[in-house]
Amino acid sequence: MKKLALHWQIMIGMVLGVIFGLLMTNVSGGANFVKNWIYPFGKIFINLLQLIAIPLIIASLIKGISDLKDIAKFSQIGGRTIMIYLFTTVIAISIGLLLVNIIQPGDGISQDTLNNLSATHADNASITNKIDQAQKTKGAGPLQFIVDMVPNNFIGAASSNSNMLQVIFFTIFFGICMLLIDVKYSAPLKGFFDGLNEVVLKMVDIIMLMAPIAVFALLANVIVTTDDPGVLVALGYYTFTVVLGLLLMICVYMTFVYLYTGKSPIVFLKGISPAQLLAFSTSSSAATLPVTMERVEEHLGVEKEVTSFVCPVGATVNMDGTSLYQAIAAVFIFQALGIDLNFSDMLTIVLTATLASIGSAAVPGAGMVMLVIVLEALNLPSEKLALGLALIFAVDRPLDMCRTVVNVTGDATVAMLVGKSVGKLGDPKVKDWDDHYKK
Ligand code: ASP
Repeated sequence: MKKLALHWQIMIGMVLGVIFGLLMTNVSGGANFVKNWIYPFGKIFINLLQLIAIPLIIASLIKGISDLKDIAKFSQIGGRTIMIYLFTTVIAISIGLLLVNIIQPGDGISQDTLNNLSATHADNASITNKIDQAQKTKGAGPLQFIVDMVPNNFIGAASSNSNMLQVIFFTIFFGICMLLIDVKYSAPLKGFFDGLNEVVLKMVDIIMLMAPIAVFALLANVIVTTDDPGVLVALGYYTFTVVLGLLLMICVYMTFVYLYTGKSPIVFLKGISPAQLLAFSTSSSAATLPVTMERVEEHLGVEKEVTSFVCPVGATVNMDGTSLYQAIAAVFIFQALGIDLNFSDMLTIVLTATLASIGSAAVPGAGMVMLVIVLEALNLPSEKLALGLALIFAVDRPLDMCRTVVNVTGDATVAMLVGKSVGKLGDPKVKDWDDHYKK
C-alpha cells in the first residue's frame, strides 16, 4: 500500500493535536495531563533536531566547500546570499508597513481592551524578561556583532546552538584551509566529513519518522497553554494584518522562484512543506534547520555547496517573517496608544527591523525581544514599553508559529535563487527511503 506523503501525515498530526488539546482544556486535569504525558514527546523531537544541527552544519559545510574546490566561487555565493537576504527582508518590512498603514488595526482598540491587556500582562515576568534581554543587546558597541562571530574556543562555540554563526565561521575557515593544503593530507579528512554528512542526513530521516506524533504533542501543548481565547478576538485586526502580510510574503517567494528559476511554485511549496509544518509546530528556525537543509537539497535540487552555507546562515540572520511582524507590531502599538508616526519613523522601522531580525535568535519568541529595540528607536517612552508588549503578548505564540514558517520558506527561496545564479540548481535527487517517500 502506498504510504501517505509526509506532509499529509504531519498535517493530520497537527489537526489531531489541536482537537485533542481543545478536548483536554475542557477536562479537569487535562492540561496537566498534556504537559506531563504528551508534550515530552514533542520536546524529545525538538531536542533530537537540535542535537544534530551543529554536526550537520559542520559536516555539510566542509563537504560543500571542499566539493567547490574554488574559493572565488565560495565568496560569490556568500556575497549573493547576503545581498538577497537583505533585499527580501526590506520587501517583507515594506509589505508590513503598507498593510498596517492601510488596515490601521490599532485604531479600533478600545480603552477597555487597553486597560484589560495591560492589567493582565504588563507585570508578566516574561515581558520584563524580554525587555531586559533587549537592553543587554542594545548596550553593545557597533562592531560587537562581528566580534561575536569569532569564537575564542571551538568547543565553547559548538557547545551551544545559539552560537551557530561562530560554528559557521570556524567551519568556513577550516574548509578553506583544507583547500589550501596538499591533497594527500586533505583527502582523508574529506572522506571523514563526507561520511559524517551521510550519517547525519540519515539521522534526519530517522528523526522525521517521529514527526507526525511530535507535532501532535507540540500542538496539543500550545492549545492547553494558550490563555484567554477572547483576546484573540480583540486583537483580531492585528492578527489578520500580520497573517495577511505573511501570506503575501509567501506569494512573493513563489513569484521569485518561478520568475528566476523557472521552477513551478507549487512544486517548490510541496518540496519545502514538511519544513514549513515543523517550523509552525516548533516556532524555531534553528530546530527546523536540519529538515530545511535536507528538503532544499534533496527535494528542491539545490546542490550542497549552496545549501550548506545559505540555510544555516539564513536560519540565524534571515528572518523575513520576523521583520514583517516587527514592523506591523511596532506601528500597531503606536496606533493603539494614539501616538502618531511620520514618514521618517517609517524609514527608522525599515532600518531597525532589518537589523533586529538579523539579531533575533532562531528560537520561539525571539522576535518580540528585538521588537523592543525597534520601539525604542521610535522613541516610545520607556514606561510605555511594557504596556506596548502587553498589547501583543497574548497572540505572540500563534503569530510566532506563522512567522517562523515564513522565515524558513525565505531561506529555501534564497537557496534556490543563489543556486540558480551560480549554476548549482538541478533536479531533485530524492534518495531511497527518504521521509517515508516512495518513488
Ligand atoms: N521563532 C522565530 C524563528 O525561530 C523567531 C521569532 O520571530 O521569534 O525563526
